[in-house]
Amino acid sequence: MTDLFTLNGRNAIVTGGAQGIGEAIVLGLRDAGARVFICDVNPDTGRASAERHGVEFVAADVTDPDSVEAAFEHVVTVGGSVDVAVNNAGIVHNHPSEDLDPADWRRVMSVNLDGVFYSCRAAGKRMLAQGSGSIINTGSMSGHISNRPQPQSAYNAAKAGVIHLTKSLAGEWAARGVRVNSISPGYVGTELTARGLSNDEWRRAWIEGTPMNRVAEPSEIAPAVVFLASDASSYCTGTDLVVDGGYTVW
Ligand code: NAD
Repeated sequence: MTDLFTLNGRNAIVTGGAQGIGEAIVLGLRDAGARVFICDVNPDTGRASAERHGVEFVAADVTDPDSVEAAFEHVVTVGGSVDVAVNNAGIVHNHPSEDLDPADWRRVMSVNLDGVFYSCRAAGKRMLAQGSGSIINTGSMSGHISNRPQPQSAYNAAKAGVIHLTKSLAGEWAARGVRVNSISPGYVGTELTARGLSNDEWRRAWIEGTPMNRVAEPSEIAPAVVFLASDASSYCTGTDLVVDGGYTVW
């Protein structure tokens, strides 16, 4: 049974893989046997992380479709195929919606939704050509519920978009061997949530709103991605795997 989870001989790319949830996913895929490429806009943290974990690094800004194409092409050139793509890069911006700056709205959409589409497109065309592949997009429970107390309408809308984009692409590509799924984490302790976790009111609301009464470690998200990347999930496509300590049951 555990053989189904192996990624031996597969090439994987993880956007936003330099730190946080992405870094944990890199470790999970590597430990399952994949050759892993960290893809990140930050070359300093990206290279350092790749060196630390014995994996490779390729730079890209997911908001720039040409740079995304070049990164995926690099994986195919160096590795011979791209078998697993984890489109995970994301940012958050907390601001009341009534006077949210359109530039901030666009910035969040640009990384969190446009970037996921560009990465899916780059992965999808190469996987369709080879007749196989697994794409995993990082959504969020914020694509299902609206977080409180922090205002973040752009983030929530983008994540709902990621979940539905995933379903749309899954339908388009299923018959040609390419699976597309998403994960939806709840609150995870990373740099993205550090400011919120240091705010007493926010931290209390986040933890009280989570039936398990705590935030997740990044390492608790990675196994869900290994499952979706591997043959263990061979009949899953278009699904969203929620990993939220129960947040969305209330
Ligand atoms: P993080 O800030 O720790 O890491 C994000 C990584 O993405 C960084 O390495 C950053 O350099 C990279 N990145 C940012 N913009 C980029 C761009 N334009 N191109 C390429 N790389 C870029 O964040 P995290 O908490 O690890 O979040 C990872 C993903 O998980 C995001 O999509 C986030 O929305 C999602 N998520 C996080 C949580 C949480 O509680 N932390 C919950 C649900 C979903």
